[in-house]
Amino acid sequence: MEQTASDAQDRLTEIRARISHAQQRFGPPARSVALVAVSKTFAADEIAPFLEAGQRIFGENRVQEAADKWPGLRERYGDVELHLIGPLQTNKAREAVALFDCIQTLDRDKLAVVLKAEMERAGKTMPCFVQVNIGGETQKSGIAPAEVVEFVARCRTVHGLDVVGLMCIPPDGVPAGPYFAHLAVLGAAAGVQKLSMGMSGDFETAIAMGATHVRVGSALFGHRPKT
Ligand SMILES: *Cc1c(COP(=O)(O)O)cnc(C)c1O
Repeated sequence: MEQTASDAQDRLTEIRARISHAQQRFGPPARSVALVAVSKTFAADEIAPFLEAGQRIFGENRVQEAADKWPGLRERYGDVELHLIGPLQTNKAREAVALFDCIQTLDRDKLAVVLKAEMERAGKTMPCFVQVNIGGETQKSGIAPAEVVEFVARCRTVHGLDVVGLMCIPPDGVPAGPYFAHLAVLGAAAGVQKLSMGMSGDFETAIAMGATHVRVGSALFGHRPKT
């Protein structure tokens, strides 16, 4: 799809207005909600108009795809904050640490150990979110809700990682609200401040439940070709 700079500006303005309206409606307390623009499957020249329009936080789900697109975009636009929102294999951890500013998909001890080692090697500390399998679905990755509090504590004290929040992808086809509410309860129990939840179809509901990061793809970039 052809994106012009003014299309990008219009979509960003609309999504930011909806975020701010949801914040006002469901506050106080006033919270800031970060918009993570999910640019997966879109090419660098389709992402550039959003950078031109001032968006700086982006999410990608594949290390290789991010490696192809983002070094060039960073060179042109500077202060980008890139979040990994897809599953991470340990053999890609080094590349992920080099490319990303935040890992939202920390979901097992082995990955925590490897990430810590790679961060030390690179002399870089990165904030991480623990991904929670909030619907208990066999096909989804993430820590089981019952294990979240212990896993977060272990990542902090044993693995030495900077765990700032929880992230979830609720089951398809059912209302997401109760899952978002559950993630908020788990976040409070685990002692983390941030909640990454809500996508194009449900980010306002997520904000009502306490989201601090919403991950919006198709509402900004348009429909993705099925991959
Ligand atoms: C693709 C993706 C999104 C964005 O989904 P949209 O419905 O296009 O907004 C958000 N989070 C994750 C983890 C994704 O993989």
